[in-house]
Amino acid sequence: MSKFLGTVLKNLIYGKIIIQENSSGTVPEVCNMGIIFYLFVFIFGLIVGSFLNCLIYRLALPSSTQNIECSVGGLKNRSYCPFCKHILGWQDLIPVFSFLFLKGKCRYCKKPISFQYPLVELATGLLFLLIINYQLFPKIEILSNLTIVELLDVCFLFFVSCFLIIIFVYDLKHFIIPNQVIYPAITIAFIYNVYQLAINNQQLAINNFLSAFGAAAFFLIIVLISKGKWMGVGDIKLAFFMGLLLSFPNILVALFLSFLIGAIIGIGLILTE
Ligand SMILES: [Zn+2]
Repeated sequence: MSKFLGTVLKNLIYGKIIIQENSSGTVPEVCNMGIIFYLFVFIFGLIVGSFLNCLIYRLALPSSTQNIECSVGGLKNRSYCPFCKHILGWQDLIPVFSFLFLKGKCRYCKKPISFQYPLVELATGLLFLLIINYQLFPKIEILSNLTIVELLDVCFLFFVSCFLIIIFVYDLKHFIIPNQVIYPAITIAFIYNVYQLAINNQQLAINNFLSAFGAAAFFLIIVLISKGKWMGVGDIKLAFFMGLLLSFPNILVALFLSFLIGAIIGIGLILTE
């Protein structure tokens, strides 16, 4: 992990992207674009994170009131304070900075804003940065050399990280994984694997499909044995999604870690009761 962060830092400090060769011939025109590119990706991640917060909030509304709530003040889909329902202006919606500037309180009713908002935004920004660095680092020097396949991989990982952030926060708050999130997540991961088959990456795709069915079957057995007390049906769907992403044997590591973390948190909850 430290090596990972080291690479990100090194890119930030020495980041240079060769844009194009200049007209006179072989000497490439070198621009110090690395920092700007990373900054752009990070800011893009912050904005996406802000959108994810909005989705997490609206997913929790009862479906009958979702449309009414969304059109408070006659402005459909504008963000508003959950307490005083005041429509938020652009100056209240700048990721992270608005929270800091307003000292974590609503500008209009002074009720506290949840730490979830800046944390989700920062997490999304950082994840996007790590994805870009992990996927493109050796090639980031020459952006124009990126292939469509590499760009699609990055887009896919952006989507996956968004789905996982929503699932993590929503499950933490409401103890359920909403079908409106896990089904599209599984669909996109499924299509991605079909696409892997199409580009002659059969081994990976087949491994992913088998891992997905294996992990889901394992959780199904646990749910059946415990009659839903240890795990819920949502966990079966999540395991299927994880399998589609991780392949064998990575899926085993992920499942082991999820059980371990679950056990630690479970013991912690029992002790603090
Ligand atoms: Zn308010």
